[in-house]
Parts: sequence; structure tokens; C-alpha cells
Amino acid sequence: MSSQNSPLPHWHGNLRNMGMRQNTGIECGLQGCDDELAAIVERLTRWFDGAARDLPWRRTRDPYAVWISEVMLQQTQVQTVIPYWNRWMERLPAVRNLAEAPTDLVLKLWEGLGYYSRARNLQRAACQIMSDHGGVFPRDPAAILRLPGIGPYTAGAIASIALDQPEPILDGNVIRVLTRLFALEGDPKAKLLNRQLWDVAAQLVRSAHAQIDLGDQRCSRLNQALMELGATVCTPGSQPACGVCPVAGACRAHQQGSPGRFPELAPRVPITARFFATGILEHEGRYLLKLRENTEVNRGFWEFPNWETAASDDAESVLSDHLGVPRTIWSAWPDLRHHITRYRMTQRVRLACFLPPQNSTMGTWLWATSTELESLALTAAHRKLARKLQHAFQKRP
Ligand code: SF4
Repeated sequence: MSSQNSPLPHWHGNLRNMGMRQNTGIECGLQGCDDELAAIVERLTRWFDGAARDLPWRRTRDPYAVWISEVMLQQTQVQTVIPYWNRWMERLPAVRNLAEAPTDLVLKLWEGLGYYSRARNLQRAACQIMSDHGGVFPRDPAAILRLPGIGPYTAGAIASIALDQPEPILDGNVIRVLTRLFALEGDPKAKLLNRQLWDVAAQLVRSAHAQIDLGDQRCSRLNQALMELGATVCTPGSQPACGVCPVAGACRAHQQGSPGRFPELAPRVPITARFFATGILEHEGRYLLKLRENTEVNRGFWEFPNWETAASDDAESVLSDHLGVPRTIWSAWPDLRHHITRYRMTQRVRLACFLPPQNSTMGTWLWATSTELESLALTAAHRKLARKLQHAFQKRP
């Protein structure tokens, strides 16, 4: 057994055995198990010092930079986020730059990350920091939480990671680590267990705060250690890397031989298939785009004209009806498949060279050159289409 996996001193079992409130509704706290929690905290924090990945946002303590990274990392892989974060920080290095930036630029820098309301909320929050806090990122966790688009997780992450405050964090990675470490049964999204998990996370970071021997930035390091462990060691599925886990000696799920059992997530929402007729209209080297309106998701982004259809609808007919283009001139492109959360979307793409009659349909329209296509903010699926289009036309004789 490696020293990392040796039992922790004074470890007696899981939190339930120690009388902690479980999702059965039993009231209690973590009194009496301070030593055990302190040992877990120490192991995690020391492990993080040697195992932390070198990520660009870990080279700064600027709460603005940490905030941007945390919002980008929600539902997006670290490797995908790195170039986005670098680009963003280059163009908008401080709160003031974000507050004063044209919304088009903010959306363009976010293009491809999805969940575009997050980019809008970042800018709204930046404006609020300028007006209510003189442009200085607030240090008070309650004030951070009042900013638009910032929930308890993001507030805890900024307060602890950037400002080293003893504030808890709880995201998917931390939930996985804590439910396994303490063999916490039940759906972690259900109210009672979720509250319990926040309590455990709070106890851990407060324990880090109290352990002066752990050195500087110990709340920051502990919370990042929990996230890092979930991302790199205590990974989803039935076979996390318990052999190299710094807290394996304390882990109830590991002792039970059943780490894959935790967390006990509710069944996923069923996948829904959606179909769209999408028309690429070219006229004299320009392409017709439509702006997504205020009432739609992804508002402010441009797309090739498209309409949602039934699976059996004829794409040419739908496009011709809306755009006033003769049905026979469309040529077919391969379908484009794009997945967003529970939606599996199929764009049935048709191409035509044609100038349709003006005002054939409502909305805001633009004929864009291929250079303009590059600089406009497009939704992710339509960015893929634009790239294919440019690739295809580069190959033209
Ligand atoms: S011992 Fe295994 S299951 Fe337990 S926290 Fe470590 S990696 Fe996760």
C-alpha cells in the first residue's frame, strides 16, 4: 500500500457513523470528527501542491480572471477553455474593458462555448462592478453573489480561489469526490443531500482555514484540490484511480469496493431529436444571414436562415416557402449534426445561388462576405457550416 493510501490517523469511518446529518434528515454536525477532516484537508492540500495542472488562470489571483475561467469552465472541458480564456484576457484584461466592450465583441469572444446568456451576464455583472464597486471586484462573498449570473458555486470559487476566503464550492467534480469519500447515498441534486454536501464542503474549507501550518492560500488550494481530484483522479465511472488517490485510506466508497455507485444521480432526461431546414443562399460572393431575435435563445448571434421542421418535412419546400426561392434550384449538402444538452439536432442543409425578393420574410438580415462571416458572431452549428462553406469554396477551380 502506498503511503498515500494508508489509513488516515484517527479515521473511524464515514460521516454517517460520526453522526452527521444524512439524507434521512437526522440533525447533527461534524463535531467530534475535526481531526479526521483536518487530516483529509491536509492530504488533499499537500497533494494539490505537487499534482496541480499548470493552467493559465492558476497563474493569477485576479478575481476577474478567475471569474472568467470559472464561468467558461461550466460544462466545458479545460483544454477547450484554455484558448478561449487566453483570447478573452488579451482583449478584455480587466472589468472595465468588459463593461465598456461592444456586445458583439463579447459574443464573438464567447462564440462556440454555448450558453450565451453567460457571456451577457458577465458583461452585466462587469457594468454593476463599475457602478456599485468603483470598478474593483468585491471581496465580500455576499456582494459577489449579488452580481448577475453568479450563483453559489461561482461566488464560492471566486472568494476561495482568488481571495483565499473560507467559502465552500460544490460542482460536479466536488460532488463526486464528497459522495464517494463519505459514501453519501441519494440524489445529490435533491434538496436534503445537496444541503448536506454544501455543509461538508464548508466544514472542509473552514478546516483548511484553521490549519495555519498548511501555509498561504490554503482555502484556495483546498478547494482547487477537491476540483482537481474530481477532474483527474476521482473520475466518473466505475474505475477512478484510487491507487494514486491521496485520501483513499479515508474513502468509504473505496473501502466498500464500490466507487462507481456514487454519486447516485437521477436518470438523465431523455434525448430529443430536432430537425431544421437550413438554407445557404449565395449572391455575388455574399451569403444571407439572419439575426437571432430577442425572443430566441442565442439572441444577437447570426445564422444562415433556418426553420425547425418535423422529421418528415421536405427541407426544400420549407426553405422555398420562407425565402421565396424556386424549389428546384436548391442543391443538397450533407446533413450537419449538432448536440446541445439533451437535444440532438440535424440541420438539413441546402445551397442555392439566388437573390430572393426583398422582405420575403420578417427579421433582421445581412448579406455577408466570406471575410465578414469570419468576424461575425455565429452560433456553434452555423460556425461549423461557415467553415465547411469556406473550405468548399477554396477548392473551387
Ligand atoms: S479513493 Fe477512489 S473513490 Fe475514493 S476519493 Fe479517491 S479516487 Fe475517489
